[in-house]
Amino acid sequence: MIDLHTHTTASDGTDTPFALVNKALSAGITVLGITDHDSTAGWAEAITAARKPISLALGAEISTLTLDGVSVHMLGLLFDGENEQMQTMLSEARDTRIPRMRKMIELLQADGYSITMEDVIKAKPEGATLGRPHLADALVMNAIVKSRDEAFENLLHNESKYYVTHATPTPEVAIQTIKAAGGVSIIAHPMASRRGDVISTATFSNLVSAGLNGIEVDHRDQTAAERIELRKVAVDLDLVVTGASDYHGLGKLNSLGENLTDPAQWERLESLASHRRVVTP
Ligand code: AMP
Ligand code: ZN
Ligand code: FE
Ligand code: FE
Repeated sequence: MIDLHTHTTASDGTDTPFALVNKALSAGITVLGITDHDSTAGWAEAITAARKPISLALGAEISTLTLDGVSVHMLGLLFDGENEQMQTMLSEARDTRIPRMRKMIELLQADGYSITMEDVIKAKPEGATLGRPHLADALVMNAIVKSRDEAFENLLHNESKYYVTHATPTPEVAIQTIKAAGGVSIIAHPMASRRGDVISTATFSNLVSAGLNGIEVDHRDQTAAERIELRKVAVDLDLVVTGASDYHGLGKLNSLGENLTDPAQWERLESLASHRRVVTP
């Protein structure tokens, strides 16, 4: 069972890397991708937790914006975690999340919501990449909403008046940086239209020119029809097809292993990295 996209307390998941690896072992997962937002901070703890028969595909989910302003999440797996260009891109991405959060809070305050940056920092685990789910948790703490889900539904979704984007690389730059660090790139949930605008299928060929390796097809936010369309794109452009849970612990309904990657697809993906970087205890 191969699940290549999950989150921990190094970003907006609610399980520590240690707990996640143990839950994945219990769930029968054999290859676990750990892909925190704009961060590799969970890798070291995950490695200490790994034991047979689980292997780890360590990575990150990088938030990007196309030149026409569409939000695209790019999964990078199996890159060299010590690559300087990569770590610079990730730390710049994390830095810009702070003024962005301040802006979202100001917009909420202007409409009378009682919420401060201090509340959000309190809701965020130490060292975690700051994100909207932490703002959602702070809104729950302040009894403004009942759950993360309700916070996103009513206040924090991508079309909301309170939504602010942050400065990010383009998808092409993220792909090139992942490749330069020896890793592989997979576009995450590219048709999750529920979240807002999505890229057109024509855009995929530009991403392939930049070095894209795969498409995340089986993901809970994509309908059966969207998955059929994406599989066609993958065949046309000779891309690897993946499936994954995008597990976030208690913060979202997604359960570990609810969508999986076919072993043959994984084998091909792994062969496209510059070195064998899978962690096999
Ligand atoms: P950000 O990176 O700060 O823009 O926050 C985006 C994160 O919010 C994504 O990782 C999603 O997993 C999470 N998210 C989006 N919608 C929801 C929801 N309805 N409930 C919980 N988390 C969500
Ligand atoms: Zn997330
Ligand atoms: Fe995502
Ligand atoms: Fe994700």
